[in-house]
Amino acid sequence: MPSQVIQAVVLAALSLLIAIPFGVFVAAWVGWALVCAGLVLQMIFHFRNFNRLDRWSKHPIVDNSLEGGGEWDGIFGRLYRHERDLRNEIARRSDDFDRAIAAIQALTDGVVILDTHNQIIFCNTTAEQQLGITLRIDQGQAVVNLVRQPEFVGYLMARDFSRPLTLRFDRGEERVLSIFMVPYAKGRTLMQIKDVTQSDRLDQMRRDFVANVSHELRTPLTVLAGFLETLQEIEVTPEEHRHFLALMAEQSQRMQSIVQDLLTLSSIESAPPPVNELVDMVNLLDKLRRDAEALSGGRHTIVVETDGQGDLQGSEQELVSAFGNLVANAVRYTPAGGTVRLAWQATAQGAEFVVQDSGIGIEAQHIPRLTERFYRVDRGRSRDAGGTGLGLAIVKHSLSRHQAQLEISSKPGSGSRFSARFPAARVVVV
Ligand code: ADP
Repeated sequence: MPSQVIQAVVLAALSLLIAIPFGVFVAAWVGWALVCAGLVLQMIFHFRNFNRLDRWSKHPIVDNSLEGGGEWDGIFGRLYRHERDLRNEIARRSDDFDRAIAAIQALTDGVVILDTHNQIIFCNTTAEQQLGITLRIDQGQAVVNLVRQPEFVGYLMARDFSRPLTLRFDRGEERVLSIFMVPYAKGRTLMQIKDVTQSDRLDQMRRDFVANVSHELRTPLTVLAGFLETLQEIEVTPEEHRHFLALMAEQSQRMQSIVQDLLTLSSIESAPPPVNELVDMVNLLDKLRRDAEALSGGRHTIVVETDGQGDLQGSEQELVSAFGNLVANAVRYTPAGGTVRLAWQATAQGAEFVVQDSGIGIEAQHIPRLTERFYRVDRGRSRDAGGTGLGLAIVKHSLSRHQAQLEISSKPGSGSRFSARFPAARVVVV
């Protein structure tokens, strides 16, 4: 039997014990009055505690507002403990939940949780930026109302999520997103969004590069194959024979130059950081001048301007190749009678190597693209000059391995200026 009932029975028995003698020896009504008074007191006591419980249940705060006497104390104590445990459990879960949300927010991938109707329940800030949505405003919205690309809508409706979907967004700048859908509990779907813009760009560059290389090699190969066929099938005079062989040698030389430049590019791309040799700039400038004179064959004036101060620290081979490419271009793109000026200036703040020519110049719109592989302003002219279209790509790469910046300025018809600026850390000034 519950203890409250026993207590009520004991109290009733007590009031009867007190009331019976009064009823017998004083008067019956006095006995009844005492019984009633006992019951009324009990009712008042229980009613007060019940009232307290009622008030507390509306605002269950764990403090001493809920204190009762007798058996009520035990009930209130149990309620307190239950309430306190419940609060602790809620606090713990809310902590876990906050930590899980913080982890989802920290993800570099976008995450969107969709309900059975593909409405947004939650998304992290990365997804907000990727899809251009705002959780506060768009929560509860069907995702297809916000991401309207037909490929996405079709993908979501087909519900075949065995492969991710690649979506292109163009908001000023093109972004490529790879979307993975993972259905999980209670018809919900987790949408994971990876930004693959960079790898897509690299893939595109690789495809372009392979196409460019094939194209560059196919042209001389086709010419070679044509001459070979002619020589095999048609009787030619010894003079024609010599002429054809000379043209074939030219084409094979062209292929060799392309392959050589490709090998140079790939070797500097995969090479470890350049070694720190001390490159004697006076010697290097002298070598560059001699090479320029040899290439020019006396058709240009070659000028070297330097006070002989300062040397460079880096890979001599790479620097010779980079500077040599700039000098060779200056000679090749400057008509006979022009001037090519080589300058070197070093201070404690850094150094600058400059090649300036009075040649054909470059129109402004081409300048930002000159260091792309196989980019030429005039394909025919570059080919005739023995260019491969890879020279400035090699230059830029070698210079950036030495933390140097390539700056190009030019005026069509007046000439160009290519400058390589090295940071102080690469310069040794005695
Ligand atoms: P190429 O082997 O064709 O010279 P580069 O990468 O060295 O390839 O140069 C890319 C293009 O930049 C050239 O095709 C040419 O159009 C232009 N260019 C480079 N240097 C000069 C220069 N000094 N004067 C004018 N145009 C230049």
